[in-house]
Amino acid sequence: MKHSETLSYIKTKNLSNLFFDESNYSSKTPLRIDAFAMDDKTKMKLIAKHFSEIMNILGLDLKDDSLKDTPNRVAKMYVKEFFSGLNPENKPKLTLFKNRYNYKQMVIEKDISFYSNCEHHFVPFMGKAHVGYISNGEVVGLSKLNRIVDYFARRPQVQERMTIQIANELRDSLNTEDVAVVIEAKHLCVSSRGIKDDTSITTTSALFGKFLDMDTRSEFIRLIEK
Ligand SMILES: [Zn+2]
Repeated sequence: MKHSETLSYIKTKNLSNLFFDESNYSSKTPLRIDAFAMDDKTKMKLIAKHFSEIMNILGLDLKDDSLKDTPNRVAKMYVKEFFSGLNPENKPKLTLFKNRYNYKQMVIEKDISFYSNCEHHFVPFMGKAHVGYISNGEVVGLSKLNRIVDYFARRPQVQERMTIQIANELRDSLNTEDVAVVIEAKHLCVSSRGIKDDTSITTTSALFGKFLDMDTRSEFIRLIEK
């Protein structure tokens, strides 16, 4: 199914089997309660140690100039970049503004690019998120929407869960149920290994409040399709 076809499918189809209903879907990233008992420095040291062990087992010569710093690089990348969104301390703070101009229509930020990592293979998946909401009297700085997407992308993820996590965060922080999130992504665990399908794109959506009404949903899909 081509990308535009998928979107029109969402637009026309009764969505009950396509979006995620919170009641039967756990949106929490499975973390242990002691997940942040260890500081970042210790985590990086331990990850580097274990990653050099993996390289060793593969038979790589860690004394080689090109390889010797790889364990440290990977450890830093994991803790400070790829998986920094596991830590609630890194969650972006949202400042809301009074909606003085009384704008009551949809606000859409589309084509928000993101990079995440699939939690089943630890290889990247990447793509675009489209986010929409209807103001409940308050609005948010637009770049904050990008930051929220980025925060939830920076953890070992499942695309379905990431979609619902972003939507839930927006419902909470914008004080409105009228929120929509659609994510289109390419998964390297599908394209570079296994079935090796280089063209498929996975689309997920989480719609709440007014976005469940056919008219509002169609308008949203029409606007992100352009
Ligand atoms: Zn995967």
